[in-house]
Amino acid sequence: MDRSLVGGLAPTPPGTGRSLVGGRPPTPPGTTRSAETAGPAPWVLMYHSVDHVREDPHRVTVSPQRFEGQLAWLRDRGLRGVGMAELLEARDAGDARGLVGLTFDDGYADFATRAVPALVRFGFGATVFVVSGRIGSYNAWDDGPRKPLMTVDQIRAVAAAGMEVASHGRHHVSLPGTGGCELREELEESRSTLEDIVEGPVTGFAYPYGHATGREIEAVRAAGYDYACDIGPAEPGRHALPRAYIGERDRRLRMRAKLARHGLRWRRSRV
Ligand SMILES: [Zn+2]
Repeated sequence: MDRSLVGGLAPTPPGTGRSLVGGRPPTPPGTTRSAETAGPAPWVLMYHSVDHVREDPHRVTVSPQRFEGQLAWLRDRGLRGVGMAELLEARDAGDARGLVGLTFDDGYADFATRAVPALVRFGFGATVFVVSGRIGSYNAWDDGPRKPLMTVDQIRAVAAAGMEVASHGRHHVSLPGTGGCELREELEESRSTLEDIVEGPVTGFAYPYGHATGREIEAVRAAGYDYACDIGPAEPGRHALPRAYIGERDRRLRMRAKLARHGLRWRRSRV
């Protein structure tokens, strides 16, 4: 029942099929794949931090134990977590069956130390959206507890482990409040910084705070990004992909309810 909502087809058994690392020629920045096709919005989960939950006013932290439980829930349903580029490439090829997008915003150090080891154990991939101007620093934009962000070496290590590195802007600013020049810099400089670090193309973007109007969506497309993740877009599209928030309270029943809700809310959308 749930599976019909994910990709619309039968699932791919976990551990089979696509390799997590590479396997496709990179798309040069600024180009659009001709094979791009529209289809129902895929199910994409939005995480931030995987760590022991202490003070967490914004509910951005999932404990390592709960995270493993959520990955096991996906695996037990015959679903496989993948990064966004892999998910969209499979979808464009008409074969996203059983695939679920896993995304991590902000690029916390615990993505490298806690999330990736668990993802690798499950044979899953993911996309991490990095704030390029805060690498190796901390989440200064947040009024919650300070959390360390990945260093350059950690970003390279997660890319080497098969994770997709994508952009979350330079300074984690709400883009609708930026001027034209600042907006372009947030989009273009963050991408080139990250491309220099991973020595490969960076094709994805996630809007800080999920704030995006038509202007920002068009700017992201014009900057050459192949896709962008939103949270609950007014109008979903390839550059405004909806995502489901996943937190510490999401045990199996709530995961199942969120999957069902995704099917009800986005079934008719084409992205
Ligand atoms: Zn963020």
